[in-house]
Amino acid sequence: MAAFGSLSSRLTETLAKLRTKGRLSASDVDGTVREIRRALLEADVSLDVVKDFTANVRERALGEEVSKALNPAQQVVQIVNDELVRILGQDQRRIEFAKQPPTVIMLAGLQGAGKTTLAGKLAKWLAGEGHTPLLVAADLQRPNAVNQLQVVGERAGAVVYAPEPGNGVGDPVKVAKAGVKLAQQRQHDVVIIDTAGRLGVDAELMKQAANIRKAVNPDEVLFVIDSMIGQDAVATAKAFQEGVDFTGVVLTKLDGDARGGAALSIRGVTGKPIMFASTGEGLDEFEPFHPDRMASRILD
Ligand code: GDP
Repeated sequence: MAAFGSLSSRLTETLAKLRTKGRLSASDVDGTVREIRRALLEADVSLDVVKDFTANVRERALGEEVSKALNPAQQVVQIVNDELVRILGQDQRRIEFAKQPPTVIMLAGLQGAGKTTLAGKLAKWLAGEGHTPLLVAADLQRPNAVNQLQVVGERAGAVVYAPEPGNGVGDPVKVAKAGVKLAQQRQHDVVIIDTAGRLGVDAELMKQAANIRKAVNPDEVLFVIDSMIGQDAVATAKAFQEGVDFTGVVLTKLDGDARGGAALSIRGVTGKPIMFASTGEGLDEFEPFHPDRMASRILD
């Protein structure tokens, strides 16, 4: 995966150096851990996550499991893999569907994160799983956002609810509520609400998103984050966590040439699961997130 290109080669090179060694000395382990630390920091992984990660690798690599192993180098690779899986969230978390449909999914995130595109991707994926999603255009900030959702919805084969232009429906909270009501009437079992984003975290935007959350009481609030934003990821995620208390994360643009730090930090920083990954502009370039698959791609 492009987003991990450099981190991936750094880690595999570091671990490959251990292969020629029969037994590992404490200084071998320390040297390896130091290189892992450097590689993670250069990939923009948050310092707290790096500290936690390297402390665990060091402790386990110096412990019994490696000294008794027939192949210590492989054992260390396994430990690094386990730790990657752990910081990525261990198990996959799926959407929790409401017992009483419709299941309401709200999308939040900065402008350009990929929310509108994700709305289409989710709708297409959900339809493939036998659901009947309704997309709701509650991003009334950007002039073109409603139209963009309509285009994406059409490509995804999903119905889009949007306020009529010039109809006085300028309130995103009202639009979101009306969308959920329409889904009940027309028997859509999932509602996906696209909300406005700004280029930076913004108090007014956050209040608007919080008001939508309060009004429609979503089953899932997905925080959509561009994996390319590097070190800003932590502050942005924390602001959205405080503002809208999201239930899960979607990483977008994992196909890009980023350094992967956002992906590796976000679970540790927010405690919230990464639920989906978006890997391109096409509607099919999207998948449920599997921590173990991602870890093995990094160490491939
Ligand atoms: P929004 O402002 O959050 O609604 O973001 P958009 O959905 O409009 O996406 C912003 C830009 O990023 C668009 O040009 C999308 O085509 C593009 N985009 C969205 N997701 C991905 C992705 O996973 N990979 C790539 N390469 N581009 C993406």
